[in-house]
Amino acid sequence: MLDIKYELTTSPKEKPTDESKLGFGKIFTDHMFIMDYTTGKGWHDARIVPYGNLELSPASMCLHYGQEVFEGLKAYRTKDGKIQLFRPDENFKRLNVSNQRLVIPHLDEQDALDALLALLKVEKDWVPHTENASLYIRPFIISVDPYIGVRPADHYMFIIILSPSGPYYSTGLSPVNIYVEKNYVRAVKGGMGYTKTAGNYAASLIAQDEAHQQNYSQVLWLDGVEKKYIEEVGAMNIFFVVNGEILTPELVGSILPGITRKSAIEILRDKGYKVTERRITIEEIAKASDEGKLDEVFGTGTAAVISPVGHLKWGEKVMLINDNKIGKISQMLYDTMTGMQYGDIEDKYHWIVEVK
Ligand SMILES: *Cc1c(COP(=O)(O)O)cnc(C)c1O
Repeated sequence: MLDIKYELTTSPKEKPTDESKLGFGKIFTDHMFIMDYTTGKGWHDARIVPYGNLELSPASMCLHYGQEVFEGLKAYRTKDGKIQLFRPDENFKRLNVSNQRLVIPHLDEQDALDALLALLKVEKDWVPHTENASLYIRPFIISVDPYIGVRPADHYMFIIILSPSGPYYSTGLSPVNIYVEKNYVRAVKGGMGYTKTAGNYAASLIAQDEAHQQNYSQVLWLDGVEKKYIEEVGAMNIFFVVNGEILTPELVGSILPGITRKSAIEILRDKGYKVTERRITIEEIAKASDEGKLDEVFGTGTAAVISPVGHLKWGEKVMLINDNKIGKISQMLYDTMTGMQYGDIEDKYHWIVEVK
């Protein structure tokens, strides 16, 4: 059992009164969890302390070489006031996969979950009450040795911060427009594409920026070698419904293995849909669209759960999908997953962990 020291704030912040104005990731709760790592000693000094600035040496290794990993999940409030998490064990399992790739020490997954549960117990009043709002959870690890040479560090910090956030789309579930990125690539096989690390996002910002300038909300990445095979969208995995069959790119090493992706596949198969994970070319999707066989396209990720795609632009070609309306499968997945998360439907897969 993790031994956690508590130093609670004597000046708690005012909680937001208008939850419709929360936005995403802008305000933070009163406390955070911190634990240190030292080579030879392991993880130590688990503590819950007032939320505030960190004191770091400007030579801290993470600031120079990006040795950082993170996770993203949410805490949901049910109608009867319970606080719930959705498959948090999967997040800490994935954090260790990222750790392994970035030569960051392994973190005991049960300890990490215990730390989160302890922090949430302290901060449970910060979990929003509004429908579809939630408390966004950001666990992360940084290397902090004050050293400017390139090598894996000997000192790390594991930190969890919490941010009450509004519904991802203020207008509710509605189709987004995305375009296929032709110049930049996000990741390649053998790189870090399958991990949640800062560098992958740094590599993607320029494409995101150009997409916004053209009034597209995100980009769809192709593989980094042939720019032929579909990989994923910004912070979402992608699914296509072609002629009734559900297709999603297989996890080839450059794609982030989303927990929402995995859950969607499990729900769809359980409901009797045919789901195929394989390499998918953008050409075959354009062809399906031309032939009227592209029924639905949607993204999956913790932030928005399901994002139906209304327009998909590839070069000069703009594919209109399902008349820019939410598809049947997208809606079903959205209702099923948010239903479990907010406690409105039975947790038949045992994915929910209650914060007690
Ligand atoms: C986090 C993330 C996803 C979605 O993963 P979930 O576990 O479903 O939230 C997809 N792509 C990238 C690049 C991500 O960082």
